[in-house]
Amino acid sequence: MTAPLHPDTVAVHSGRSDLEGLGVHALPIDLSTTNPLPDIERGGDSYEAMATGGRPPADGSMVYARLWNPTVARFEAALAEMEHAEASVAFGSGMAAMTAVILAHTNAVGKRHVVAVRPLYGGTDHLLGSGLLGAEVSYCDPHEVARSIRPDTGLVVLETPANPTLDIADIADIVRQAGEVPVVVDNTFATPVLQNPIDLGAAMSLHSATKYLGGHGDVIAGVVACSEATAEALRRVRAVTGGLLHPLGAYLLHRGLTTLPVRMRQQQENARRIVQWLIDRPEVAEVFYPGLDGDPHGILDRQMRGTGAMIAMRMRGGFAAASTITTATALFTHAVSLGGVDSLIQHPAALTHRPVPPEARPAADVLRLSIGLENADDLIADLAQAFAAAPSIAEPPLSERATPLSDAHTGAVRA
Ligand SMILES: *Cc1c(COP(=O)(O)O)cnc(C)c1O
Repeated sequence: MTAPLHPDTVAVHSGRSDLEGLGVHALPIDLSTTNPLPDIERGGDSYEAMATGGRPPADGSMVYARLWNPTVARFEAALAEMEHAEASVAFGSGMAAMTAVILAHTNAVGKRHVVAVRPLYGGTDHLLGSGLLGAEVSYCDPHEVARSIRPDTGLVVLETPANPTLDIADIADIVRQAGEVPVVVDNTFATPVLQNPIDLGAAMSLHSATKYLGGHGDVIAGVVACSEATAEALRRVRAVTGGLLHPLGAYLLHRGLTTLPVRMRQQQENARRIVQWLIDRPEVAEVFYPGLDGDPHGILDRQMRGTGAMIAMRMRGGFAAASTITTATALFTHAVSLGGVDSLIQHPAALTHRPVPPEARPAADVLRLSIGLENADDLIADLAQAFAAAPSIAEPPLSERATPLSDAHTGAVRA
């Protein structure tokens, strides 16, 4: 076949090229922790190749599952193709993936400085600020990246759309500002369905695969799409530190990828219905959703193919209202995490962003919604009854105070 395949087709078929040769149709799960060695020499050569980040030699062995696992490798090949990358490397969590990225671009290459563009997921902010990995971190706004770079800067960390307030940063502009310094983009919220950071010059696209990629709330995992050279550096860190993804998790993720485009489209459609409803509600002071301000700088147009299914909102009744609403919803589960087929609600300042220093922490009246695959009318009715339980406030709805969603981002997920 010569024409490039549509992303929907890639999602269903990628990472499966060896299955026919194996005589199977569904993805096999290989649980071996150790593997037979042909002889000492080729066993040793295989070990050497993989402990330094390479792949198992054709005439060698996979040796040990901390070095290589074929079920994980198939998922990695699939995700790489969806992200338009040469390779990807999977980890036991999003944070293990971020840890490996930081170690491979600081300590391992003799650099010690990281530029981190805020806002970031609370766990990432916490990891960077903890000093645990020996990196020195400068936090900055998107326009301050160039002036934050130093000779010892090894990495720029960016998240867009950012957790929890859906801030959008211009990936290509930040890559330009970073110059020679590699940029990792946390692409968890957009997924490869809506955004491919590597096409915009980023060195790495990182996912908490726990969220949309898995999509069913039953796998903790992380993955980094990148060049083969960067993958070698990351596999080396993984082999040495052991932040592995279990093959059962890789199997579920690989299966989950097949429905990712369809899930994203439908969850996004639900989210857009809910945003339209929220901006008319007197209880809501502000809605955070990409495109609500009309995309004045054209960034959404340039880098995204849709606006996603995450929403944040500021409640007019402050923390008291936010707190009541989280316990009053029935369909929305009050829980952290996001991106699954069922809808979740949570309070970022108290939970996901609790470790973030006060100056960068979300406000106390902010709630975050992860919109699932339930019927949108049912979700709206659930929010309506939860709002009714919260302390009442008489204010005009947001639609009389702000621009409604523009037609420019109708949520059509383009190929
Ligand atoms: C959840 C999350 C992470 C961390 O991933 P884990 O799989 O929980 O370790 C990183 N970035 C973002 C944007 C997230 O939402």
